[in-house]
Amino acid sequence: MSILVYAENREGKFRKPVFELVSYASALGKMMNCGVTALSVGNVPAGEIEKLGHYGATVVLTVNGDSHAVFDTGSYASLLAEVAQSVQAGVILIAGNTTGKALAPGVAIRLKAGVAAGVAGLPLSVSPFTVNKRVYSGNAYARVVIKSAVKVITLLPNSFDTAESKVSPSISAYTPKAAVAVKTEVLNVQKQDGRVLLTEASVVVSGGRGMKSADNWGPLVELAELLDGATACSRPVSDEGWRPHEEHTGQTGKIIAPDLYIAVGISGATQHLAGVSSSKYIVAINSDKSAPIFEAAQYGIAGDAAKVLPKLVEALKAAKGK
Ligand SMILES: Cc1cc2nc3c(=O)[nH]c(=O)nc-3n(C[C@H](O)[C@H](O)[C@H](O)COP(=O)(O)OP(=O)(O)OC[C@H]3O[C@@H](n4cnc5c(N)ncnc54)[C@H](O)[C@@H]3O)c2cc1C
Repeated sequence: MSILVYAENREGKFRKPVFELVSYASALGKMMNCGVTALSVGNVPAGEIEKLGHYGATVVLTVNGDSHAVFDTGSYASLLAEVAQSVQAGVILIAGNTTGKALAPGVAIRLKAGVAAGVAGLPLSVSPFTVNKRVYSGNAYARVVIKSAVKVITLLPNSFDTAESKVSPSISAYTPKAAVAVKTEVLNVQKQDGRVLLTEASVVVSGGRGMKSADNWGPLVELAELLDGATACSRPVSDEGWRPHEEHTGQTGKIIAPDLYIAVGISGATQHLAGVSSSKYIVAINSDKSAPIFEAAQYGIAGDAAKVLPKLVEALKAAKGK
């Protein structure tokens, strides 16, 4: 029995959610007394592959070449299921990001496995296999027991700290047995360059309707840059066209869990909080002391965003000697 982790790469590099997954698998392996196998698909440099061992992968299987160059959910799910069977995986761990959400059900159905999506934290027990998973758009957690022999889990990004354990993994190439049947074709890719990815940022500075207009975003963006963070917004802001739609967080937008979420001029509607309530710390800046966001926040500044933001920027610049 082993634990299989799908180590997704972006252009040959692993991002933080993969190291979180491997760290989680390593801790789970101690609970279940079994090793961790990571699967990497696509061309990833050797130095990068070795990093999986730094977080506790004992075995790394690589599917090199271009056979899976196109991310096609069906063919990737088939590959994961095939590898899971070949390493006799009892648990398959996949990141709870967009890719993982698409993959997990496909893997589970192929393995007749039970699936828990959006898991936060290690299992409360491995026998019966009991986990807490996010439900109702993050407003509650459900305790679920997975009864099947094989289990598929997607882990909420940023919900488990990376932990180094410096294992020297055994690395080998895996040749898929099944022919690849790609049913989709990528016609065009638009990349977001040079900015911290919202779903992976440790710090997010987010603006709501209280920012008043698209022209007032300068200090908010500057604050995000000073904190090496990403920018986000509430849905009405993107609906108004003040900010791009990919920045919208909430029930109908991106679900994020940064270490620090600074909500500026955001009232704190449940639909917004659904996307950000797993943040470790929420700081609210709002002119209305009774705004619901203050109930979700650990720290608050009651004041006008137009005055507070420039002061924060000024203070941070001074602290950084800029
Ligand atoms: C089915 C459904 C799905 C939805 N999905 C989402 C979603 O995914 N994400 C989302 O965000 N919303 C979503 N909404 C909308 C949600 O209900 C709220 O309407 C929205 O989140 C409010 O956005 P806001 O906080 O920016 O604006 P408002 O509610 O208008 O709040 C603006 C805030 O700014 C404060 N403010 C005003 N002036 C200043 C100032 N000068 N300085 C500081 N603060 C100031 C005000 O006190 C207020 O608290 C959804 C709604 C529905 C019905």
